[in-house]
Order: sequence, then structure tokens, then C-alpha cells
Amino acid sequence: MVSISKKRASLHTLGCRLNQSETLLIQQRLQDDGYEIVPFGEPVDLGIINTCTVTNLADAKCRQSIRQFTRTNPHAFTAVIGCYSQMGAKEIASIEGVDLIIGNQDKMSVLDYIGQEKNERPVIIRDRISQEDFSVSFIGDSPFNQRANLKIQDGCSFVCSFCIIPFARGASRSRDLDNLLDEARSKAQSGVREIIITGVNIGTYRSDQGDLLKVVDDLNSIPGIDRIRISSIEPTTIPIELFDLMNDPQHALLPFFHIPLQSGCDRILGEMRRRYSISEYLDFLHLAHDRVEDLYLGTDIMVGFPGETEEEFQETCRVFLDNPFDFCHVFSFSEREGTVAARRSDQVPILERQRRSAHLRRLSSKKRYDQYQSHLGRSMRVLFENPKPGLWPSYTDNYIRVVVPRDSEQKEDWANRCGLVKLKSISADFVDGELIEMID
Ligand code: SF4
Repeated sequence: MVSISKKRASLHTLGCRLNQSETLLIQQRLQDDGYEIVPFGEPVDLGIINTCTVTNLADAKCRQSIRQFTRTNPHAFTAVIGCYSQMGAKEIASIEGVDLIIGNQDKMSVLDYIGQEKNERPVIIRDRISQEDFSVSFIGDSPFNQRANLKIQDGCSFVCSFCIIPFARGASRSRDLDNLLDEARSKAQSGVREIIITGVNIGTYRSDQGDLLKVVDDLNSIPGIDRIRISSIEPTTIPIELFDLMNDPQHALLPFFHIPLQSGCDRILGEMRRRYSISEYLDFLHLAHDRVEDLYLGTDIMVGFPGETEEEFQETCRVFLDNPFDFCHVFSFSEREGTVAARRSDQVPILERQRRSAHLRRLSSKKRYDQYQSHLGRSMRVLFENPKPGLWPSYTDNYIRVVVPRDSEQKEDWANRCGLVKLKSISADFVDGELIEMID
């Protein structure tokens, strides 16, 4: 019998920004209930692991984290929540020491299910996911962070043939506008200057009060929010009115797009059930690149989709290299049980997927280097983050990682302040900068 009266808890997040924002809300509730939050891995009375199921590898990492936690904390109450709990509850239940498994519908209420004692066998709560729009109850005074994820939407109704997310998170639904603005105001009051608009398919946001443009504009009017970044957004869902907002120096919206391409080959895009042709995608990409000054363009590409030939992979590499992308996240295709693509008989061998993935990653590093190189010598605005030994990390508006040396004697605190920095040289995966002046 284990008491959780000491109230020490740790949380661990796997996967996407949405999971990170949800974990943070749960953490706030725990703190409000009097829990002390300690780093994951330390001895605690309660552990909450927020999981991901986007690939087989993600599942394996979740199982590893759960085992790691239960081994080092055999007496702690162990709750596993999120996407893998939704899809793989049975596998999780077979792991020794797990007390509670909650899918996506009820995970935000996890604290209501935590007992004073460990359960004899895991309790599984995995209801059908609601299709209704939603609000999120949050507590003011969020833990301070210069950049904060703000969840505006959940789920996806596109059902690409390789993707498990519509099953794990349900159909697309939008968060009440007033509710999300309240959270943004609360974050701004606690010192947050940059909001990252987060969801599964945020371009499909539609609440009674408006669409994504309305969200962006209303966030812009909140005092203290100086930067708004839109996280990954699906092609075909992006309003071109965003271009003018990105160019407007008075508007907080940053020149940043991350638009998943997935493949540069029309045949594969069709089999993936993506909703665009390569020419439609590239027309939009070039329009954005031409219309928005200093625009960062990132993408996701999946390699080794069933039936993808070497020629088709090379076609994708060419599309990536020949067009104004700055970076790509590379994903190897992963057979997710229940999806159409997992049932196909023409799977690409795993080693070949890994080879393609490594090749594309090298191309992506080169593109990133070229982007950095093309900005050297310029002076750009950055938002400084908390210091690290000997340096001040930051990002420019268009997502260049800039590091300015920090004198060990330095008294002045730059964290959460904007500065104008000169981009001087490239070191590994960041740019060395020199402060010209603090802006505010
Ligand atoms: S758009 Fe496609 S890949 Fe993205 S979450 Fe929806 S189904 Fe998955």
C-alpha cells in the first residue's frame, strides 16, 4: 500500500507540441493541488506519462519510458495517458506497475482517477472521442516560458492512408475562441512573449466566432504578445491573408510556415490520400516565398511509403532541393495497425527506408546551412531565452538559431528580451551572433 500524501510528482511527454501543451496544463493542475513537480527519473509518488503513437518507434519509446519509470519508482502511482493509451492500452496494461491508462477523451481529467493506493491491475479508461468543439480549463499563472504552445484545435478529419492520428485523436474539432484567448492573456500576464499556435490540423480551425485568421488577429491584440508563430499547417488549409499579416511590422505574426509535403511524387501523394498535387503544393510555396519577406519554409517528408520506388524517392529529393525549403523533418514510413497503408503487400524494406531517411536528412542539413549562409552579415531581431553556460540562445523571427556569447561576469539579464543581433558565422547547427542593441 502506497500513500501519495507526500505529493511529489513527475511528468513526461513523448511526441508533439500538442502533447507538450496538454502536459503543461496537467502539471499546472497538479501544482494547484499542492504537488511538488520534480524532474522525470527522480523518486516520486505519482508519475504521469503522456504518450505518442505516430510510429512503431514512438510506441517503443513510450514502452521504454514507462518501464524506466516503474522500475525506478515501483511504489509510485503510474498513469499513462494520450495517443498510445488510446490505441495500445492492452500492450501498456501488460507492463508491470502501471495503474491507470487513459485515452485521449478523458486524459485531461487524469487527476480525478488517481488513487491513494496502487491499483491491483491497471484501470483502463478509453471512451469514444467526442466530435464536439471544446474548451480547456486552465489555471492562471502558467509556469514561465518565453515561448508557449497554445492549443486551439484537436483531431483530424483528413484520414491520410498512413496516419493513425484520426483514430488516436478523433475528428477535427475547435476550441472555443474566448477560452483560448483567456489562456493566451494569462500566459502574457505571466511574461510569455511568444505564442505558438498548436493543434493537429490547425488550418481547419472553425469555431462559432471565426477561423484561424480571427484567432491570429485576436491574439495580436493581446498586450504583451510580441510574437505569434503558427506551427505545422496542412497545405490547402492556409489562408493567403496570412501573408500580409506576416509582412506587417505592426503585426506579431512571424514569417514562418511549416507545411508538410510528405512526397514530391504525384502517384505517392495520391496513394497517401493527400489532398493536393505536387504542382498545387509548389504553386502555393512559391507564392508564399515571393510574397513574404524573409519567410522560413519548413516541411515534413515521409520516405519508404509502400511501393515508393528509388526513382520516386529521387523525385522527392529533387523537389526538396530545387524549391525554397529551408529544412525538412524526415519520417520513415511506419506500419500503423488499422491504417490502409499498413495492409499493403508492397512494403519497402526497413533498411531501405533507413537509407532514404539518412540521405534526405543530409540534404536537409545542407538546405539549413544554405539558409544560415544567406543571412550572414545581416542584423536581425531575436528573442533571448534563458541563458546556458557561456551563451545566450535565441531565435530570429524566421527561425534561425542564434547564439550570442555570455560573459561569466555579466550582470544584465537578457532572458525574455528582444535584441538586434548581427549574424556572424555558422557553428554546427546554429549561427554565432553579436548583440548590436537591446530593443526592449
Ligand atoms: S492531415 Fe493526414 S497526416 Fe496530418 S494528422 Fe490528418 S490524417 Fe494525419
